[in-house]
Amino acid sequence: MSEAAPKPEELVQINYDPPRRDWRNAHVDYRKGTFCYSAAAKNLRYLDLPNPRDWQPFDKNWKLPPNWREIILQGMKERLQKFRSFRLFMDICVRCGACADKCHFFLGSADPKNMPVLRAELFRSVYRRYFTLSGRIFRGLAGGRELTEDVLKEWFYYFYQCTECRRCSVFCPFGIDTAEITMMVRELLNLVGVNTNWVLEPAANCFRTGNHLGIQPHGFKDSIDFAVDELEEITGIRVEAPINRKGAEILFVVPSADYFGTPHYYTLLGYLMLFHEIGLDYTFSAYASEGGNFGLFSSHEMMKRLNAKIYAEAQRLGVKWILGGECGHMWRVVHQYMDTLNGPADFLEEPVSPMTGTRFENARTTRMVHICEFTADLIHNHKLKLDPRRNDHWKVTYHDSCNPARAMGLLEEPRYILRNVSNQFYEMPENTIREQTFCCGSGAGLGTDENIEMRLRGGLPRANAVKYVRDKHGVNLLTCICAIDKATLPTALEYWTPGVEVGGIHELVGNALVMKGEKERTTDLRGEPLHQKEAAVHA
Ligand code: SF4
Ligand code: SF4
Repeated sequence: MSEAAPKPEELVQINYDPPRRDWRNAHVDYRKGTFCYSAAAKNLRYLDLPNPRDWQPFDKNWKLPPNWREIILQGMKERLQKFRSFRLFMDICVRCGACADKCHFFLGSADPKNMPVLRAELFRSVYRRYFTLSGRIFRGLAGGRELTEDVLKEWFYYFYQCTECRRCSVFCPFGIDTAEITMMVRELLNLVGVNTNWVLEPAANCFRTGNHLGIQPHGFKDSIDFAVDELEEITGIRVEAPINRKGAEILFVVPSADYFGTPHYYTLLGYLMLFHEIGLDYTFSAYASEGGNFGLFSSHEMMKRLNAKIYAEAQRLGVKWILGGECGHMWRVVHQYMDTLNGPADFLEEPVSPMTGTRFENARTTRMVHICEFTADLIHNHKLKLDPRRNDHWKVTYHDSCNPARAMGLLEEPRYILRNVSNQFYEMPENTIREQTFCCGSGAGLGTDENIEMRLRGGLPRANAVKYVRDKHGVNLLTCICAIDKATLPTALEYWTPGVEVGGIHELVGNALVMKGEKERTTDLRGEPLHQKEAAVHA
């Protein structure tokens, strides 16, 4: 845990009394623990982004280009013409306040500028000043604000305290998507070289090696081979995990954390077991070795470039369609932007499960199916032999990862799988799950150590709901289907709700899956002895 994080008893003292100062005062205190560091110049150079230099948000001089204001205003003008949604979201907010208390960052910090309506107003006020008639004439009287350096610094602070989770949008009567406003502001900041390293380094790595972590093809192969060896020890079965195999039926794409992080890695083991058991004709790609897309957190252009490599690989390898693993923002990009960015992918076939014959009509244009849809369909058609007792050491709850839930409506399939692979599944309170799920507090590139206080504040509402099921039912495992959740929720839970671990759904599928010819299972996929855990639970 970072030194910058205060104790939970201190952090939970949240005072919601509104401050007295005028919200139009743009001064920001860049306090340690509440912001992300700037992007390294080498990453900007690699990505051909403007104004590479050494600077930090707490510096007085941000070394902006001399004409930075003109660049931003020109960028706004172009985007207002290009994106109808952007102009609409600028104009239609009636400031009803329905979204005000829906953001986890506001709930965890009580900073009014973390209310979605006020966060957007930090930007909308500048729009009003320069792009509406009343604002141009009456300026401040019409709710306009001048674009000053302090305003720019305030944008950087608050639009990197939005995880683009879209919970607020669920409650907005006009459907205003604050995440899209955040994306637009970040895109404009990029034009003058104001960006964070936690977003741009993964993007730069992706261009170099195909994945966020910068793992070279041989490193990718090594980790997949390692997983195959480990599975042989656990099950007695040697599975195949083909890479770059031309002519396979399906390209399988996962977030890179699945083969290099824990607890993600146990999910990878689950996939490999499943594919072996059903005899799936598939391949990984050493270049499309990343499903995640940090372009979503920086600019439309970056998002398009990163998404394109998955489809380029599908074409090069000659597969029929694409299957995607447990990832969050990969699915927001595929489900809501891919068709416009790079689609339709009509060189691929409309996905049909080779085991059940089910046609995945929702993937008719993207040609990409979510692993939970795929597995739920296998279970529904009785294609898997499952023994849920092998997960009896877990009392399970499910965190709807924001993007699969709100961006693609994947609500039932994960629960259907969980009910089939586990005997003890408990839901968190209704207003914290499904479409209303609370974010992990660290998405959209905010999951850095230096930002730890803000992450913990943002993670409080989710952790609080987990505490409810931990205390009521003894829940000890939070499952989710997003690589960022799996990376950041362990920290938030250890801090707010100790005693609850984090895992993927396909980890539990792997535990429960009875494979033909397997040896007697003595451990779960974490290598923990099954019988001892069961004994402890039953004691
Ligand atoms: S709920 Fe919608 S209309 Fe109401 S204040 Fe929030 S963004 Fe504006
Ligand atoms: S973090 Fe989520 S709830 Fe908060 S403003 Fe951003 S999109 Fe809305």
